[in-house]
Amino acid sequence: MRIAEPLHLRLLRLLRDQGTVSRAELADRLEIPRPRLLAELERLVGAGYIAEAGMAASRGGRRSTLVELNPNLRFAAVDLGASSVDVEVTNGRLEPISAYTESTDIRSGPKVILHRVNELLAKAKADGAYERLDAIGIGVPGPVSFRDGVPVSPPIMPGWDRFPVRELLTREHGCPAVVDNDVNIMAIGERHGGVAHSVDDFLFVKIGTGIGCGIYLSGEVYRGTDGCAGDIGHIQVDSHGPMCSCGNVGCLEALFSGAALAKDAALAARGGTSPALAERLAAKGTLTARDVAEAASEGDVTCIRLIRDGGRRLGGVLAGLVSFANPSMIVIGGGLAHLGHILLAEIRSVVYRRSLPLATGNLPVVLSGLGPRAGGTGAAALGSAVPFEQAC
Ligand SMILES: [Zn+2]
Repeated sequence: MRIAEPLHLRLLRLLRDQGTVSRAELADRLEIPRPRLLAELERLVGAGYIAEAGMAASRGGRRSTLVELNPNLRFAAVDLGASSVDVEVTNGRLEPISAYTESTDIRSGPKVILHRVNELLAKAKADGAYERLDAIGIGVPGPVSFRDGVPVSPPIMPGWDRFPVRELLTREHGCPAVVDNDVNIMAIGERHGGVAHSVDDFLFVKIGTGIGCGIYLSGEVYRGTDGCAGDIGHIQVDSHGPMCSCGNVGCLEALFSGAALAKDAALAARGGTSPALAERLAAKGTLTARDVAEAASEGDVTCIRLIRDGGRRLGGVLAGLVSFANPSMIVIGGGLAHLGHILLAEIRSVVYRRSLPLATGNLPVVLSGLGPRAGGTGAAALGSAVPFEQAC
């Protein structure tokens, strides 16, 4: 059983997720005596977290007053990808007020990238999005020590190892900052406002350049001892498979990921097995996973097979995870989610066939509901948790 959460935290989260609520309704929803609620509300209004928002419609008798999160609360959400940076400023309800997206190269190193993040935040401030930030949540494309707020030996992020990301952002903006990996923040986003809304046990699988998995157990993100739980891309699926970027052989992501699919596509185009890909290669000079998706939707047999092969391998790994963790949902997201129904059908068929019936009796395998917005939403939700917890 979960330890009961403090009242202020339940109250702030409820207002974050529901918006404006009357005092009377709050007392009902949280099942606490009205005097206790009123005292807590008064304290949180005084501390600047909650504001009065007029009168509620009458429920008979005295009209109750409405409260909402202080409309001046501001969170920054930063989602760093291998080749992109997304910066959002949200209000207390995590609704975006301003948003910027840019192409970038994470390999430029932390000083260059975080300097750009600060410039984008300064731009948002100059445009009137905020006066001061209450918290920052940031996701990075690599393993993170959640406790220390630093990336740890991230394979695609040279120069970032143990760089003090949290400390730098906290110092620059004078507010708490939280650092997590990109997959976890997507999972958090999906639970806040996507298909996994309020689902306590689920897996969020990100298929992009690599493959990773965000794990929600009993309503909390499970990060493991060192913060690298869910690094499923390096589970071996073929002991005779190709070399992986990690130095091992036959890892899942060496066989199926954006990078692997682009490589397979080039081989198929040059080998003459896929006329559709050969045509695209001749026209553009290069192929990506998106070309495979498009050619598959046009009925190209080789492309359909590539996606099915990938789905089968990923499905095999997920079947193991289902037996291990017994989640109530699997969400598929990331750039390759657009491989769509062929991929989903293959994953479902393997997971349902290979896991025990009890674990899959009611196990939806679905696409992300937020798509590219999952990371930003999750980063804002992650950031908001810190001031909310401290509001006592
Ligand atoms: Zn590997």
